[in-house]
Amino acid sequence: MTAFRGADLHCHSTFSDGLESPAQLVQRGVDAGLSVLALSDHDAVHGLPEFEAAAKGTGLVTVTASELSTRCDGDDVHVLGLFLDPDEVELRAKLARFRGDRDTRGSAMVEKLLALGMPLDIEEIRVVVGDGAFGRPHIARAMVARGYVKTLDEAFERFLSRGKPGYVPKPKWTLDEAIAAIRQAGGLSVVAHPIWYRDPEKVVSLGVAAGLDGLEVIHADQDGQKENQFSGLAEREGLLKSAGSDYHGPPEGRKRVGACLLDEENWNRMVAAATTRRAEAGRPPLDLRPR
Ligand code: AMP
Ligand code: FE
Ligand code: FE
Ligand code: ZN
Repeated sequence: MTAFRGADLHCHSTFSDGLESPAQLVQRGVDAGLSVLALSDHDAVHGLPEFEAAAKGTGLVTVTASELSTRCDGDDVHVLGLFLDPDEVELRAKLARFRGDRDTRGSAMVEKLLALGMPLDIEEIRVVVGDGAFGRPHIARAMVARGYVKTLDEAFERFLSRGKPGYVPKPKWTLDEAIAAIRQAGGLSVVAHPIWYRDPEKVVSLGVAAGLDGLEVIHADQDGQKENQFSGLAEREGLLKSAGSDYHGPPEGRKRVGACLLDEENWNRMVAAATTRRAEAGRPPLDLRPR
């Protein structure tokens, strides 16, 4: 047995708003010396076969995942579905519909930006998005490329965040629906980056009432103090603890594969819960052997 070297359970690729392919992500995981890596694209599971294929021969343990957007308590609450069966048909169909909605919403945002004097080429952006999930980062990057803003953060702060003039909402799950859909697909539901919400404790308690499994205690945007706070919250609520970098590429500060790692004890707890969940949901058993 080789020693456990940590699990990064939250990463994006070009199948949503990440900048690197699943194969590039796998290479990042190998370079960081990880034991476990998850691909958790927004509203997408169709990048997982490529991720799986790229991991062959690396010795990494791979985790199938997706990040779902929900509305909860007036916030856009992200829920990770970890260990879900990517072949579950209802989930696949719903995610495909959401990706269609994202495309419609993307072109509506481009229209709004045009009216604000910032023309963008929607077809050029669609080429970049490909068959992935169209997100605000795609628009923000196009705005930077045209020189309308200097950074992605500026694009969000001035135009793309909720309440700003370029923002268009997208259809979302309710928190309860997302948790139920993940459960049906044999996965574990985890509230992502609690620091993003106005009242994380309320979000978690609503989640627990709906069958939530875990909380992302360690995340690139959460410092040591927040980590302790969310760790305590997870313990009080009987939730699994999760960890992830939320990598979108290229590496930057703590948004780097391997910068936010789950330890062996918490990983083992997750594996036990996921194994049970798969069986209860009637989905195929997990294969967590190193690839
Ligand atoms: P969407 O799913 O299209 O609503 O876009 C949300 C995504 O935008 C998140 O998953 C992040 O990847 C990214 N994002 C949100 N806020 C910011 C920000 N302030 N700066 C850069 N990226 C952001
Ligand atoms: Fe994202
Ligand atoms: Fe997120
Ligand atoms: Zn994410």
